[in-house]
Amino acid sequence: MLTKRLKTDRESYDGSIREAARILKNGGIAAIPTETVYGLAASALDEEAVKKVFIAKGRPQDNPLIVHIANIDTLSEIAADIPDGAYKCAEKFWPGPLTMVLKRTDKIPAIVSAGLDTVAVRMPSDKTARDIITASGLPLAAPSANTSGKPSPTSAKYVIDDLDGKIDAVVMSGDCRVGVESTVITLVTSPPRLLRPGAVTVEQLREIFPDIVVDKAVLSEPEKGEKVASPGMKYKHYAPKTETYLVESDSDSFAEFVNAKQDAAAVCFFEDGERINIPCIFYGTGKDEYTLAHGVFSALREADTLNKSAIYVHAPSKSGVGLAVYNRLIRAAAFRVITL
Ligand code: AMP
Ligand code: MG
Repeated sequence: MLTKRLKTDRESYDGSIREAARILKNGGIAAIPTETVYGLAASALDEEAVKKVFIAKGRPQDNPLIVHIANIDTLSEIAADIPDGAYKCAEKFWPGPLTMVLKRTDKIPAIVSAGLDTVAVRMPSDKTARDIITASGLPLAAPSANTSGKPSPTSAKYVIDDLDGKIDAVVMSGDCRVGVESTVITLVTSPPRLLRPGAVTVEQLREIFPDIVVDKAVLSEPEKGEKVASPGMKYKHYAPKTETYLVESDSDSFAEFVNAKQDAAAVCFFEDGERINIPCIFYGTGKDEYTLAHGVFSALREADTLNKSAIYVHAPSKSGVGLAVYNRLIRAAAFRVITL
């Protein structure tokens, strides 16, 4: 299949939005930019189109997709028994990087939710994403636009690296502003539960849900056969091909540790830079977790291209957006954590 590149410079923008919407309305699949990561979109109302998304990504059938909407009125069409808290969250965090799991209506085919009776919904803030959703007139099911298991794509280039020839189109835009996937909370349990951390932080969510619980799968490896609230948590995720380790330490000890390694690469903070004598990729400053979220996935992909025998990543703090970055890295590292 030829994957169309749809440009979004000023001259091409309107035509590309129309073409992406046409593809989606006709049951095709297209990668679209969002503020979190690029998503691989299909009509959430079209079972056959959604099947194509699972196939193109090689995504396990039991890992549900997030439905993207551009208008709050769509929420009550796809979700039922919506609690007040959901509207409070929508008012405070939408459009933006928060996904809410709610009870599913029959309008959404079971395949979207991998057979669960719930549906995950988000309203993205990225203008291009919103324009495509609006032009298609559809809710769009869209997981991250990467091959399952690999780091999520934060630029169109990485989408093409993974999915060229397997999808109908890529809407080419700039780098994703946030850089990690949305925060996922479920509101079908009481109290609400954080299933995946993201740029909307637990601290912010506590202002609406003081009793919100952080699911234990956020920071620990699910036991074999354990039933997890968010099926995505049990899979190998975000992983470079190269064996990756997460290193918790200060700058000096991190540098001393990695400098003693043969044939390894480091993924580290700007401020570690001068001390490191092995090939290194910076992913932001340890003093600002937003920069780390923005850079983490591209740094993992770039470190992988160095073809070393190991990658050592300097771990971020677990507070604020740091929790989201840490959650991705601990999975990229298959839970191999070294504490110095
Ligand atoms: P991705 O689309 O790659 O951002 O992955 C979507 C994430 O949302 C996965 O971790 C899923 O397990 C989670 N998710 C989607 N729908 C549901 C749902 N109905 N219940 C619980 N988790 C969900
Ligand atoms: Mg994903």
